Amino acid sequence: KMPSIFTRIVNGEIPAAKVYEDAQTLAFLDVSPASRGHTLVICKEELPTLLDLSPDLLAAVARTVQLVARAISAALSPDGLNIVQNNGAAAGQVVPHYHVHIIPRWEGDRAIAHWRPGAGAPDELRDLAAAISARMGEEDAV
Ligand code: AMP
Repeated sequence: KMPSIFTRIVNGEIPAAKVYEDAQTLAFLDVSPASRGHTLVICKEELPTLLDLSPDLLAAVARTVQLVARAISAALSPDGLNIVQNNGAAAGQVVPHYHVHIIPRWEGDRAIAHWRPGAGAPDELRDLAAAISARMGEEDAV
């Protein structure tokens, strides 16, 4: 299998504007930023999506996301920050190597679009919650 573009960054084979690195995670600037300071946090291990990470690795990524978000806030003073994380092509994931987007936001910048709010009928919400909660705790519930 071909290594992902992010694995090639981890291995130093292609350059990146690195922000932070520890044993399990790496943060670097997105080459096509949605806003000034748009940063990606990845797990160094090449795992495709949220569904594939161990709880410990997910916690390591979350810790790095918060550390980098604080540094971006201190350096750039954005008015807000979006955390975006795409899983699967249908959800807009282009690089199949788990990563979290940190997108600094400024009032009125329209840097990313919000979803179209739908209507959730109470009966439907109750049935969906029951269907999901019935599968909680299953190792293979994918
Ligand atoms: P996603 O759509 O969630 O898979 O996002 C992939 C992101 O990776 C996009 O925002 C790209 O701009 C970014 N990207 C792709 N290649 C590189 C690269 N070599 N260095 C930095 N960011 C990259």
